[in-house]
Amino acid sequence: MLYQSTRESKKKLTAAKAIVQGLSDDGGLFVPETFPQIFSQINDLVPKPYKERAAYVMSLYLDDFSFEEINQYTAEAYNETGFDDATIAPLHKLDDNTHFLELWHGPTCAFKDMALQMLPRLLTASLRKTEEKREVCVLVATSGDTGKAALEGFCDVPGTRIMVFYPSEGVSQIQQLQMTTQSGKNVNVVAVEGNFDDAQSGVKAIFSDEALRCALSDAGFFLSSANSINWGRLVPQIAYYISAYCDLLGSGHIKLGDKINFCVPTGNFGNILAAYYAEKMGLPIGKLICASNCNDVLTQFIDSGVYDRNRQFFTTISPSMDILVSSNLERLLFEASGKDAKIVSDYMSKLGSNGKYEVTESLKSEIARIFASGMCSEKDTMDTIAKALNNYNYLMDTHTAVAYKVLEDYRESTGDTTPTVVVSTASPFKFCDSVLDALKQPHGDGIELLQQLAEVSGASVPAPLSELKGRASRFSDCVAVDKMKGEVVRFLKG
Ligand SMILES: *Cc1c(COP(=O)(O)O)cnc(C)c1O
Repeated sequence: MLYQSTRESKKKLTAAKAIVQGLSDDGGLFVPETFPQIFSQINDLVPKPYKERAAYVMSLYLDDFSFEEINQYTAEAYNETGFDDATIAPLHKLDDNTHFLELWHGPTCAFKDMALQMLPRLLTASLRKTEEKREVCVLVATSGDTGKAALEGFCDVPGTRIMVFYPSEGVSQIQQLQMTTQSGKNVNVVAVEGNFDDAQSGVKAIFSDEALRCALSDAGFFLSSANSINWGRLVPQIAYYISAYCDLLGSGHIKLGDKINFCVPTGNFGNILAAYYAEKMGLPIGKLICASNCNDVLTQFIDSGVYDRNRQFFTTISPSMDILVSSNLERLLFEASGKDAKIVSDYMSKLGSNGKYEVTESLKSEIARIFASGMCSEKDTMDTIAKALNNYNYLMDTHTAVAYKVLEDYRESTGDTTPTVVVSTASPFKFCDSVLDALKQPHGDGIELLQQLAEVSGASVPAPLSELKGRASRFSDCVAVDKMKGEVVRFLKG
């Protein structure tokens, strides 16, 4: 299997090269040439544990890796040392037609673990395969969940260093504690004065600094990114959609060939794109419902065919979905346009210069064939959390609540009764203060909120979060954006 860029059709790379490089030289994203078909294999996957389902799915795309290699990585990534549920990605049944796919049973309690427990293994193996001798330094700007998941994934992985920048304003207290108490010899965490955009623009400036790259290269390092445009982060995510289908078959809720819908709380469009790829592989999917918070640029796009980032940015209680440019949408445009690299380049250059583009009528209707979308306000998010706990005794986080409300609205407006899986992306305990607000519980702040939420809801605090109590903070630096580069140099050379 070879990979090509969404903006140029001629050059083809192996998976290992695509993973090492991350982004194509022409600014495009790497996409697989074809989509392997899995329908005839689904029954065989049903009795298998998650790690074997995932190994099967990933090996179809990573054929420059041996099956033994992939098997070893999934066995190391998805086991009961890191995950507090033996099934790794369990389905929680709400009613006969509605299940929640809980992707937050991993070491950092957010779905980013599903990919970031695999990426370091895929990346280090790819470095060996491409005979890269320098040490990789992974730079991450995070709005909260990615940073911790990347730290946990790369912690003490030989041949790697990781440096995470998080905004001093904007991450939850629990998220900050998770990062500043991170263990490991090869890790560094620094707060950046400002918001996520400030941290992100600082990291982008470092990546595009040629002189710095040369100096680091001379010192034996090269920079890489762990964000969701990397193929090594996307490919592990396809597996859990297929796994969820297997579980519904196994429990008798559906028959082989029955279609199901997925409803996904969406930010950078990585998670829902993996579902789209699963559909391209022959998984019977009816609709993919793209759920947004009030930063609903994607919902508007799916409805109107116009992508317009020139709009107000809102800071919400579902911060991992606060985003105006969803990078992975480019991969959908590429497939839905019949792999038209020229039209994708054109849209992306318009996005760069005007912050806006409009797709053709045929592209718009191809997207509407499989995607539906909806927006959920802050108040509805809160009300949904409280309602689900009252009616179903099920506690969900703010991101998952956005998706559940959008699903309810979708069902009401379409009458669609297809069994639907809501993708649950974070433990509610990661966002204690907002969840307690939703439950109308007066609260203070800090680590004590974990216990309070447990008492109010009857749910138990995940171990990785309760263990934060009393842990010493290792990283307390907070720097201005223009000092970030110096911090990287100090970390690598110091
Ligand atoms: C990252 C994240 C999302 C958004 O996922 P994308 O792949 O960026 O669309 C949603 N919910 C939570 C909790 C996240 O951490």
